[in-house]
Amino acid sequence: MHLHATYFISDLHLDPTREHVSRALATFLTDIAGCDALYILGDLFEAWVGDDDDAALARDTAQLLRNFRESGAQLAFMPGNRDFLLGAGFCTRMGAQLLPDPSLINLYGTPTLLLHGDSLCTDDTEYQRFRTLSRTPAWRQQVLAMNLGERRTLASRMRQMSHEAQSLKAEDIVDVNSGEVGRVMQAWGANQLIHGHTHRPARHTEARGPRWVLGAWDSSACVLRADAHSVDLVDI
Ligand code: MN
Repeated sequence: MHLHATYFISDLHLDPTREHVSRALATFLTDIAGCDALYILGDLFEAWVGDDDDAALARDTAQLLRNFRESGAQLAFMPGNRDFLLGAGFCTRMGAQLLPDPSLINLYGTPTLLLHGDSLCTDDTEYQRFRTLSRTPAWRQQVLAMNLGERRTLASRMRQMSHEAQSLKAEDIVDVNSGEVGRVMQAWGANQLIHGHTHRPARHTEARGPRWVLGAWDSSACVLRADAHSVDLVDI
């Protein structure tokens, strides 16, 4: 059933206080072992302070994904707004290819654009200013030059800055701007778009093709499954 299928997940928000989600990920990875590919479209972790993080969660998750990768499936990771500091170093530990946001892939013949989704929420101008600043090499270097303890303090302070950044509830997260959705699909020549971030799982029909929104993981796990014949959102 899982052979020749590609899976997309996002927004697991793995955290030491959410062990049930780590367990759900382990079960899911066992179930889909040997599939074509798994794409993780951001916010795998609730927070990320740098690839030198020595916490058990980072170590155990890397091991889990590396074991999955050894089943022969391709694995790709795109950073989200929570784990945007996750870089090539930790991707190597996971056995994952680091994907830029956005990335265009050929999904069984359909040009498909992958994004975390936060860049589509252009109505949140305050966040977009922070996003632009925090993606600059200078900001990144400045933060990563701090020691781990300082970065952990900064991460918790940043989460307290906005209500949205503290909440996993969809109603607290600004939704995508439909004009921006149309613009990026056109600019990339995409006939399908897949993103997470908003925690509003759905299939939307846009001018150029379907837009699939992944859901957050908590008491259930939201997965997008694609093969040569169909694409479906499934709750597991
Ligand atoms: Mn997000």
